[in-house]
Amino acid sequence: MPDTPLDVRALLGLARMRIDPADSELLLAHVLERPRSWLFAHADATPSGDERERFEDVVARRARGEPVAYITGLRGFWSFDLAVTPATLIPRPETELLVELALARLPDGTALDVADLGTGSGAVALAIASERPEARVIATDASAAALEVARSNANRLRLTNVRFALGDWCTPLADARFDVIVSNPPYIAEHDRHLVEGDLRYEPPSALASGADGLDAIRTIARDAFGRTRPGGWLLLEHGFDQGAAVRAVLQEAGWCDVETARDLEHRDRVTFGRRN
Ligand code: GLN
Repeated sequence: MPDTPLDVRALLGLARMRIDPADSELLLAHVLERPRSWLFAHADATPSGDERERFEDVVARRARGEPVAYITGLRGFWSFDLAVTPATLIPRPETELLVELALARLPDGTALDVADLGTGSGAVALAIASERPEARVIATDASAAALEVARSNANRLRLTNVRFALGDWCTPLADARFDVIVSNPPYIAEHDRHLVEGDLRYEPPSALASGADGLDAIRTIARDAFGRTRPGGWLLLEHGFDQGAAVRAVLQEAGWCDVETARDLEHRDRVTFGRRN
């Protein structure tokens, strides 16, 4: 027997009993192929039986823990939506601080060279490229699948000042020199319990964890980026809220000057940077 048709308002009401209200809206908008705002203007619209079934299916996936961004294949970052897949980390809002600090070191209108190491979906590289059309950006990643996602994001956003190179951290940069090197590397300790909770369970382990204290990638980058930075150039690294002092020590040890840590909107240590003399 066919169910009674339910309108948008009723479907969202039912979904909210199982998942977060904001997630319900993102998922219904995704199934109906409409912007989220459409839902509020069309609360009385009645999705088809097929649409309702697909909505129930994605609500069930979300209720089991799958991240919304992997279900919809999209995540908002900076001024755009990025395609994401399980091959890429889901970009986080706090990473916008890394972008802002990099932009502050890239005067508008100058043809500076920027590298983003471990670009994932391309979030950081593409945000910088979109704000600084004259900059020449290179984005590296050790995952060919992630790089494919980043490349397709660049194409869709029509950003032509970003190149992509496959390989670990600085390796694909060869002997090029940069004015700014940025990275949001994996920085969680290998046995941290957060890795088996929430969205993190679904994200690529290589994008999240890095050695016993979480600092392996940061140590490699701090060391290898130094020789690839022009005098006066900067390295900026995102890290965990409790790693500020450790990352400053790693940068100083590797020869960086003027090392400082910036805090995110929640007043937590989030990005540490240093300059090459
Ligand atoms: N640079 C990407 C981001 O900030 C990916 C980071 C990562 O995979 N650790 O979202």
